Amino acid sequence: MLTPSDKALVPFVSVDHMMQLIHHVGLPAMLRGLSTYIADDFARWEQFDKTPRVASHSAEGVIELMPTSDGETYGFKYVNGHPKNTSEGLQTVTAFGLLADVDTGYPVLLTEMTLLTALRTAATSALVAKALAPRGATTMAMIGNGAQSEFQSLAMMAIAGVTHVRLYDIDAGATAKCAHNLADTGLTVTTCTSPEDAIEGAQILTTCTADKAHATILTDNMVGAGVHINAIGGDCPGKTEIAPGILTRGDIFVEYPPQTRIEGDIQQLPDDHPVTEIWQVLAGQAQGRTSDRQITIFDSVGFAIEDFSALRFVRDQVRNTAFFHPLDLLADPDDPRDLFGMLSRAKG
Ligand code: NAD
Repeated sequence: MLTPSDKALVPFVSVDHMMQLIHHVGLPAMLRGLSTYIADDFARWEQFDKTPRVASHSAEGVIELMPTSDGETYGFKYVNGHPKNTSEGLQTVTAFGLLADVDTGYPVLLTEMTLLTALRTAATSALVAKALAPRGATTMAMIGNGAQSEFQSLAMMAIAGVTHVRLYDIDAGATAKCAHNLADTGLTVTTCTSPEDAIEGAQILTTCTADKAHATILTDNMVGAGVHINAIGGDCPGKTEIAPGILTRGDIFVEYPPQTRIEGDIQQLPDDHPVTEIWQVLAGQAQGRTSDRQITIFDSVGFAIEDFSALRFVRDQVRNTAFFHPLDLLADPDDPRDLFGMLSRAKG
């Protein structure tokens, strides 16, 4: 356990610790807890420093830094997105992140965020679906059955009232994996062989595919009135999922417009196309769904405040537990101005 005199030791939550924490808290409770922290931070949106994430693009992917601060605490996430990775046995998305005390600038938490990103993305999707999906929505099409898909499905059950998921992926093996992982979770699971089949009877359409291309996962003629689209996979310049015709028929909700206009499905639309910031809907400052026939679209790209909320949640959960290592990350000279003198400790 860390003590106040161990200021130089930073709590580090490893992947193993994160898995233990998830089992300790319980996955549905963790998703609900994360959604509460995200909702709390969205409610004080204006207090945060906000900037589109800092992206370094390459032919095969992107590496991004996602910083924000509420004036008391600073956080950032390092995350990559490489759709070709899975063909080499590597993941599309991996991440880690850090929280720091603004007053001293000292880090207060370093943690894995590959699992945490899947959890926070799913918690955000479900929080938004709860606000925008048609009343009584119980069926979700889950298109793209990779790493995020089980988390998306379980969050929709835990938070947004979904009881039935209809799975589709161009890779039948991914669909079989997802169906296997969702067995015995309480969800009714149907595997489908086409996207048209997957959206049959679904009120929520989640697209969570990975392809560095202007893909059209949902074509204009597939989407009828009254559905909610949770578009997760279009999150990078040149990487989209939704046909422009659907975007112009629907009402679009986004996290942070300056980032989403660069990265989201709305990169296909003119820069002045109207969008609503989702925090305003959750705070009661803007309208969400206003009619049964309206198509609502959450053009999700993932924003730094969601990661900040997730980092806060983990910091609060691991306190007084054994789910972290004290990490020797910061130099701690006896005299703070004698950094050089500290070197003598390692002599001999
Ligand atoms: P993944 O590579 O594990 O899974 C992607 C799946 O999409 C694969 O199974 C692949 O076969 C499938 N796919 C590709 N093209 C398809 C198509 N045309 N139709 C149906 N299925 C198709 O990736 P992941 O970790 O699950 O992430 C999925 C996407 O979500 C990525 O693009 C990632 O960048 C994005 N993402 C967004 C957020 C956010 O906050 N919005 C967060 C995390 C990940």
